[in-house]
Amino acid sequence: KTFVFMFDQLKHAGKELLGGKGANLAEMTKIGLPVPYGFTITTDTCRSYYDSGQQLPEEVEGQVLDALKKLEETTGKELGSPSNPLLVSVRSGAVHSMPGMMDTVLNLGMNDDTVKGMAELTGNPRFAYDSYRRFIQMFSNVVLKVDHYHFEQRLENARTENGYTSDTQITAEDWKGIIEDFKSIVSAQTDRTFPEDPKEQLFLTIRAVFDSWNNQRAVLYRRLNQIPGHLGTAVNVQSMVFGNMGEDSGTGVAFTRNPSTGEAKLYGEYLINAQGEDVVAGIRTPQPIASLEDDMQEVYQQLEDTCNLLENHYKDMQDIEFTVERGNLYILQTRTGKRTAQAAIRIAVEMVREQIMDNREALLRVDPDQLHQLLHHRIDPVHGRPQIATGLPASPGAASGQVVFDADEAEELAGKGKKVILVRPDTTPDDIHGIVAAQAVVTSRGGMTSHAAVVARGMGKACICGCDSIKIDLETEQFTTGSVTIKHGDLITIDGGTGEIFDGAIPMIEPELSDEFQLLLQWADEEAQMGVRANADNPVDAAKALEFGADGIGLCRTEHMFMDASRLPTVQDMILSETNMERNEALDKLLPMQQEDYEKIFEVMQGHPITIRLLDPPLHEFLPDKEELLVDVTRLSCTNPDAEELQTKKNMLRKVRLLEESNPMLGHRGCRLGMIHPEIYEMQVRAVFQAAANVMKKGITVIPEIMIPLISHVNELKDMRRLVLNISRQVEEQEGEEFQFLIGTMIETPRAALTADQVAQESDFFSFGTNDLTQTTFGFSRDDAEGKFLHHYVENDVLPQNPFVSLDQDGVGKLVESGVKLGRQTKPSLKTGICGEHGGEKTSIQFCFNLGMDYVSCSPFRVPSARLAAAQASV
Ligand code: ADP
Ligand code: MG
Ligand code: MG
Repeated sequence: KTFVFMFDQLKHAGKELLGGKGANLAEMTKIGLPVPYGFTITTDTCRSYYDSGQQLPEEVEGQVLDALKKLEETTGKELGSPSNPLLVSVRSGAVHSMPGMMDTVLNLGMNDDTVKGMAELTGNPRFAYDSYRRFIQMFSNVVLKVDHYHFEQRLENARTENGYTSDTQITAEDWKGIIEDFKSIVSAQTDRTFPEDPKEQLFLTIRAVFDSWNNQRAVLYRRLNQIPGHLGTAVNVQSMVFGNMGEDSGTGVAFTRNPSTGEAKLYGEYLINAQGEDVVAGIRTPQPIASLEDDMQEVYQQLEDTCNLLENHYKDMQDIEFTVERGNLYILQTRTGKRTAQAAIRIAVEMVREQIMDNREALLRVDPDQLHQLLHHRIDPVHGRPQIATGLPASPGAASGQVVFDADEAEELAGKGKKVILVRPDTTPDDIHGIVAAQAVVTSRGGMTSHAAVVARGMGKACICGCDSIKIDLETEQFTTGSVTIKHGDLITIDGGTGEIFDGAIPMIEPELSDEFQLLLQWADEEAQMGVRANADNPVDAAKALEFGADGIGLCRTEHMFMDASRLPTVQDMILSETNMERNEALDKLLPMQQEDYEKIFEVMQGHPITIRLLDPPLHEFLPDKEELLVDVTRLSCTNPDAEELQTKKNMLRKVRLLEESNPMLGHRGCRLGMIHPEIYEMQVRAVFQAAANVMKKGITVIPEIMIPLISHVNELKDMRRLVLNISRQVEEQEGEEFQFLIGTMIETPRAALTADQVAQESDFFSFGTNDLTQTTFGFSRDDAEGKFLHHYVENDVLPQNPFVSLDQDGVGKLVESGVKLGRQTKPSLKTGICGEHGGEKTSIQFCFNLGMDYVSCSPFRVPSARLAAAQASV
């Protein structure tokens, strides 16, 4: 079996085998770009390595040595040769890009002999020794697990002893001394000496890179991004080029378009006389790419041409790593660039205008999950408060929160429900859990391509970088800027789109859709073969739903209208009533309220379909908490035993006890309420039709779809259907109107799904309530599961994902599938949709599309992303 491939060996090889980095290095080699030569050890090797208890397959050593020979022949250099040494990088590279999460070692092949050869060959001993010490540092950290701190401290001493302000002042002689000390550090920190044999260095590093697939931050990153753990990483061994050879050398990162705004202009940063990691590490703040045009005009031109070529080749915005060695440009990596939602949309739309691709392809370039970023609040532009500092606008979005200076603390406080903003001099991959937890991130060092910026953009989190006007004191936990001091725990607000930081919390305003966003959604609607509705139960949400392009309301929950504080007492009267008369009195009061709600919603919706669900939750949800009542009753009995209030509370308590259920989720709720208390449903249905009549008189079409929740047997629906028909006839007579309407049901118990052929006989439509269906299929009570064991299940891969977030296609999905099939068997014209929270989630949407559903329904703010997902499902 072949485990190792030269960059130019395969005509076509995918990322699955070579990893993203390896596949693109091969691809770029093929199209003739200046890529330093090398070879890739496949992801297969990594899988075998783990399958056999961290043993490399036997053939690998021989194949690596053969590949090395070819590399030596091509470059004319030799690994370990004192006169003409080959130096290589050993780079991780998984199928899905995981920036900075795994390990890479540069300058491998350096030792006490080759460093001398390098010094002579280049006539630049300072460069040679600088490269050597970098290698020792990186190798010792990655392979021998020596903490960076020890080396950094030694470097810091060297700077202070000599009064240097920059590392470029450190001389070759200084480096020699430092290298000796670095080696002593290695001996002291590990039980071995630093290995001088380059082949030993190579194989140790290859193993270490495979090991880094399972380091803590890589595992966390994969979990966050739902990347499977079995894929493994490839290892790329590539001959080195040097950006640290002097003023005519450098290294940088370029995006073919602006990843924050999407503007079609080369974007990025570089450092003169520096090596790879320096730019992304955020240690020195790099130069913006535009000034490369002044520094090295020809190189800039060549870079720009290369970017255009790569973008046309991959038909997507690229994120490129390059190095300039003595005026020569080399491309070291290209990948699809991570971008904000705003940038994704602009890039997709403009690439269509530039005829790089067509509408349909453009739709696939935008991730529906990302769009929520654009539907977030923004800082109110008229707040009028001066900013206290400005940094680089690294990732847009606005956020307010308490300042914390430590990633662990950010995680801890966020876990307690606090909103925090993480403020750091810079961030490393070890801070990722803090970035996840924080509302936003601010760093005082590092550029737009620094770690914090890349990670924050990927997560759609606001971020400001390189804000060097703030002085952070980690000891006292505060930062100062001008005359303002912000202490740990103080509130600040940041705007990642402008780079501004404000003292205190600033009011936010509602988002709106940009023209490009609208255009993209228009293309989406042209492609989509499935409707998108919204869940809305008040006129404001209904209007929002229409504004975001919903086709109608897929779920209007009437109980939300009951929860209103001004109505709750009447609702409670209805529940607590002892006699029919009392109950009817309360219902008579509720009817005009419900009717008014429906009228308003019907008016807003202007003829778009509306599915109205009759009362669903158990009645005790409308009553006060039992323990609180008990306390009140006890208190009143002691202090004021004659009070009328005591009697009322006692009454309430008795009723609450009566309604108490051991399993409310499976108790007296849904249509079971309508079966036992038909007068409640009758009132609701009457309100719907009277409202419809009034609105129709204004010339507005209304076609209500009345939905009966939680049935498990067709006979329940039969009864409820009769009830609805009766009332509708009564109102028709009374109002002199003829109604057009549908009567349907939710499919949210397994039995309803399994007997859908029978249920369909009484139903004009099915709406799959996959929240309850997931609960009843798994036998999980959601409220208990999420807090207690579901988290554990997901973290330990017992379940591939939280089934309340993404529809469980194997189990719950089977019921949905048979529900659709059986229902249509009885009634081919049966309308079907889904109204659980899954209705806004892209993989669930794809699934619903495959089953041939007519629509999905989700919260208004998820409508735009659902429209895009529906289009992607259809393309
Ligand atoms: P990551 O996946 O963390 O970006 P990389 O393997 O891309 O890790 O390498 C880290 C840095 O080292 C990058 O800046 C890259 O450009 C640089 N680098 C890698 N290989 C070489 C090489 N052969 N010559 C010069 N620089 C290199
Ligand atoms: Mg890289
Ligand atoms: Mg339900």
